[in-house]
Parts: sequence; C-alpha cells; structure tokens
Amino acid sequence: MEPVSYEVFARKYRPQTFDDLVGQTHVSRTLKNAVAQNRLAHAYLFVGPRGIGKTSTARILAKSLNCLKGPTVTPCGQCDNCREIAGGNSLDVIEIDGASNNSVEDVRQLRENVRYAPAKGRYKIYLVDEVHMLSPAAFNALLKTLEEPPPHVKFIFATTEPQKVLPTILSRCQRFDLHRIPANLIAQHLQFIADKEKITLEPAAGHAIARGAEGGLRDAESMLDQLVAFCGEKISENDVLNVFGFTSKQTVIDLTGRILRGETPDAIDLLHQQSEAGKDMMRLMSDLIAYLRDLLVFKAKPDALSEDVDPEAQKSLAAHAELITNDRLLELIDQFAAAEGRMKWAPNKKLHFEVAIIKAIQSLRQATLDEVIEKLGELRDGKAVSEKESPSVAAGVRAARKPSEGGSPSSQNLAADTAATTATRVAETAMLDADELWQKVVAKIPTKGFLRTLSEAIRPIGIDGRNFLLGHSPDDKSKIESLASANNRRQLETLLREASGRDWSVKFVAKEGILPQKAFGVLSGEVKSAELFKDDPLIQEAIEIFKAQIKS
Ligand SMILES: [Zn+2]
Repeated sequence: MEPVSYEVFARKYRPQTFDDLVGQTHVSRTLKNAVAQNRLAHAYLFVGPRGIGKTSTARILAKSLNCLKGPTVTPCGQCDNCREIAGGNSLDVIEIDGASNNSVEDVRQLRENVRYAPAKGRYKIYLVDEVHMLSPAAFNALLKTLEEPPPHVKFIFATTEPQKVLPTILSRCQRFDLHRIPANLIAQHLQFIADKEKITLEPAAGHAIARGAEGGLRDAESMLDQLVAFCGEKISENDVLNVFGFTSKQTVIDLTGRILRGETPDAIDLLHQQSEAGKDMMRLMSDLIAYLRDLLVFKAKPDALSEDVDPEAQKSLAAHAELITNDRLLELIDQFAAAEGRMKWAPNKKLHFEVAIIKAIQSLRQATLDEVIEKLGELRDGKAVSEKESPSVAAGVRAARKPSEGGSPSSQNLAADTAATTATRVAETAMLDADELWQKVVAKIPTKGFLRTLSEAIRPIGIDGRNFLLGHSPDDKSKIESLASANNRRQLETLLREASGRDWSVKFVAKEGILPQKAFGVLSGEVKSAELFKDDPLIQEAIEIFKAQIKS
C-alpha cells in the first residue's frame, strides 16, 4: 500500500451496486424491482443503526436513477453521473445532513431549489441523512414540498431514530428497515477485503472483529484499518483482542461453563486473569450476557444462530444447553443484566462482576420445587439419592465443597460468598419464625366463627419489617376481603403480639400456589399441592439433604 493513495477501507470498498450491499438483500431486492418496473416512490426512508449501509443504499439508488444508461438496476459506475454521485459531487444529488442543516432557512433554500429541473440527470435527488434531527420548523417546511413534489424530484431520507420522524413525513415515504449485519457475513466481507489487500487475516480474527462491530459493517472496516496500521499485514485473533481490549470467544465460553457447573473459585480466577490482562470488564460482561442470550435462543431453536455464530461456538452452545433449564437461564440473564447496570457507574467494576458471578452460582444451587418433588418421589420409594439427576443441586453441592479443597480464592470472594449464604439463612430463619408464630396464633383461635374460617384460608408467607404477611389463594380474594374486617385483623394482631411480644400489622396477599379454601377439604391423594408439599416431613428431609431452598 502506498501511503499517498491511502484510502480507508470503508470508502474504498463502499458498495457500488445493489449486489455489493452486505446483508440487506430484503432491501436491495425490493429496490431493484422498483427500478426495473419503473414503480418509483417520491420519497424513501431508510431506517437502521449507524454504519450498516443506509447512505450507500441511497447513493446506489441515486445512481440507478441518474446513470446515463439508466434508469437501471446495474448503474454503470463509469458515466459522469455515476462517478459524480459516487464522489459525492453531483449537482443533481444534493446531500443534506439533518444534524447540521436544520434551520428553516436551509429548508427554504431547498424548496426554492426543488423547482429547478435537474442539471444533467433525470432526477433531482435529495439525500437527507439523520432526517430526525431537522427542527420542527424545518420539518414543516419540508413537508410542503413532500406533499406535492415536482415529478423530477426524489427524496431519500435516512435515520437512526425513526420514532423521532414526524408521522406526516413517515406517511409519505416508502420505508425500508436495514438490519444489523450477521457476524458471519461481516467476517466474510473482511476476508474479502483482506484478500484484495494481500493481508493475512486469521478467520478467528475476522470473527472477533465482526463480534466487536455488533452488526455494523463500517465499524468493522474501520477496525480492520486500525489493525493494519498497528500490526501490518498479518492479523491474528490475539492482535484483535489486544488492540481493542476484547475478550476471546473462548474465554467467554470458559467463563460460562464454570458458572453453569458451579465452579465459583475457577470462575473468579478467570475473571481476575482477564482483569489483570487489562480486559474491559464492561465488555466482558456484555459478551457474557450476549452468550447467555445466544444460549437461550439456541435452546429454543438450535439452527437460529447459524449465521451469527461460528461452528466452534455452536459446539459449546450445544454442550452448555445441557447444563441449564430455560427458566434458570432467564433468571441468570436477568441477574447479569442488572449487574451490568450497576457496573456502569461503579468505580470498581471487577468487584461487581465477582459478586454477580457468586450470586449467579448461588441461585443455580437452589433447588426448584419440581426438583424437590422429583427427589421426594425417590425418597418415598426408598431409593438412594443420586446427585447426577439433578445437575443444579449436584453442582451446588460440589461447588460448596470446592473452596475448602484447594484453590485460593481471595478473602474478598470468600467474604462475599459468606455474606450471600448468611443472607439466605436470615431469610430462612424469618420464614421459620413466621410459621412457628402462626401455629401459636392458630392454636388460640376459637374453633368456630369467622376468625377460624379466615385462618383456614390463609397461611403465613413471610415477615416484612413489622408486617406479618398472610397469603391466600387468588380465588379466595373476595372472601378474604369480607372476612378480614378491621375487627378480625385486630384480633389476629393481638394474638400475634401475645405470641411474640412484638407489635404486628397483618397484611393479606393473594398468592398463586395456595389452594382455595374449599379445596383443602376435598384434596385427593393425587393432587400435588406445592404448598402442602412444603409442610411434608419428607420434603423437609429432602430440603435438609440438599441444603436446598424451595422456590416457587
Ligand atoms: Zn452510469
């Protein structure tokens, strides 16, 4: 490459025909048909994030319309009109940046101009980029032209924020939504550029750039520019990771595996390595979330990601999909997304990341009700408890043992782990207290009367400050409302105070999973009620064995 003629890749490899457009076939096909059949709209609106080809598409459309050999779906690229449009200096193609030309005066000038016939081409074409940035006054001035455009005028608008474009403008445009470009297509295109430029680009490096560009081709091309400037003509995956502070796909895969298997110390170790290597913690977190999201999609539809994920990553997705249920995965994504939000403004991002990992593994250890019910069946049948059938429980048990076996998690991690465990215990203790206390209260309620009827339809579900929470079936709501008179509440609160020596305020809460009152009497042996199970001594035993918690 000669420095003198150096041109950035994004410009040098700007698509020149509809067929050059990467990843927007749905748009190019429609536009080609429109040009071929001469069914052209007066105004087009291209919508989509930055750097995915809106302006390029607009210029190609302009060339198609004004090429001396046109209108044609394959503009020649050679004639004066084509060359001028490609160079951005055609008299008939007026490019306006909505962000800077948004005064009424600018638009007024535009309206004056519109009246004159095109100088050389067939059409006078106005390309308005970031049209949503135009001021309302400018919008309105523009609208007047849009309402009755002269036949020789075409408008092509582009915007990243369609919701900010006035509806009156939207309704006069044919709208095209350009998509983020799948990573595999970007990687392919980078390889195409690399071949032309005689650059050796490792396939993994191409994929790493594509992932980092998040669907934007122009960003990917600029990154390749930077890499060539920095590394010369041979670019490896490591170069990409080092220059941009990205984490390798493999690292994200390893981290996910350790989390899903409940290997807290190993997961934290990996995080520390990344942090010490100067990796961007925010980036790693968003990569982790993106991978978990991919995993969720993969579980729903394994082939849905074939365009976005390279074959190696597909294999890991298949392996990880076995380790976690959809519910757990959703929960995990929520947790990490919340942590990402906290990290954004936190000075010590690594600490928040650590806590998020520890909490995630902690929550994976908790058995779900279904798992406990399944185990209960085994206990009833007198089978030995097998760890392998309940991956999350088993992983939890293994993980719980691990720290004492070896490894040297920093004291910070241990402290966080302990804190999380303590919090869990406190919650458990509170629940026990509520149950015990309630039993004492029930023992004192007269066996007949409204208070007894009320007490049979409700059950303690927890303590919140000085509120004593009593749950009931949503089906019983109206009955509870009539039974829970001020007088009955007071009686319950008095009984609670007598039993505990504290002041309480009772709160009634409708809660799924609690059987309606009538059903208690007719409960058959087959009906499996989650709430009844909780009280079953065998369930209690199961909980003890698994050191588990019941989640509803
Ligand atoms: Zn031409």
